[in-house]
Amino acid sequence: MLIDAHCHLDFPAFDADREAVFARARAAGVGRFVVPGTVRRHWERVLALGERAEVDVCLGLHPCFMTEHGEGDVEALARALTAHPEVVAVGECGIDARFPETLDAQWMLFDAQLRLARERRLPPVIHCVRANDRVAKRLRQLAPPAGGLIHAFAGSPEQAKAFLDLGCLVGLGGALTHDRAQRLQRTVAALPDDGYVLETDSPDMPPAGHRGERNEPARVAEVCRRVAELRGQSAERVAADSRANAARLFGLAPGGDGISGSTAG
Ligand SMILES: [Zn+2]
Repeated sequence: MLIDAHCHLDFPAFDADREAVFARARAAGVGRFVVPGTVRRHWERVLALGERAEVDVCLGLHPCFMTEHGEGDVEALARALTAHPEVVAVGECGIDARFPETLDAQWMLFDAQLRLARERRLPPVIHCVRANDRVAKRLRQLAPPAGGLIHAFAGSPEQAKAFLDLGCLVGLGGALTHDRAQRLQRTVAALPDDGYVLETDSPDMPPAGHRGERNEPARVAEVCRRVAELRGQSAERVAADSRANAARLFGLAPGGDGISGSTAG
């Protein structure tokens, strides 16, 4: 059984056929899903998805939607975390240096969410684009007590190691399936077995061969096969390691999906 450790199944891109997306995922062996929040006004739809046994949710304020965040959103996040103990992480939060005009505001919002994650002993789920070294430095200063996830990681082996040394995991998705991603592929080959989780970031980041298409959790199976090739391990082994790592990071309770069972050695 595979877990998609990061997918935006609450997005309107899935409104027309969400049940079919879950069914295709199940058929591909993907039985559990972690859905992060992005903006306050959509937390309700994330929490609603979390009522499904196979879905776990995070709440946070995403750095790519700075114009949507307002005064009081961090306080609202703190209240929501108190009201919803089922939330497994703070996120999606982080830094996206492709948007330099909002970078100062991004850092303020990220810092506030890191402090909240630390206070609640929850892992932060971190979106980190062109900012690996600065984010690692910030995490080193704050020492997140519950680890964290650097989702959609695309950096070097050294940058991965810096995050792992901080107790974080890296999220591996469609990016590594592209031929040009050779540095990332070297990183994947060098990761320790307990250092990563598999994810899709659906509806974004489709793997090679699906360019321009909506991505969906069934494709975490393709990511798994490619990771297995790069690491010289079986796909079953990679699926089992990823599942165990996600369960440990997010403190996932056994669901109806056999997460506590062992389908692979
Ligand atoms: Zn995301």
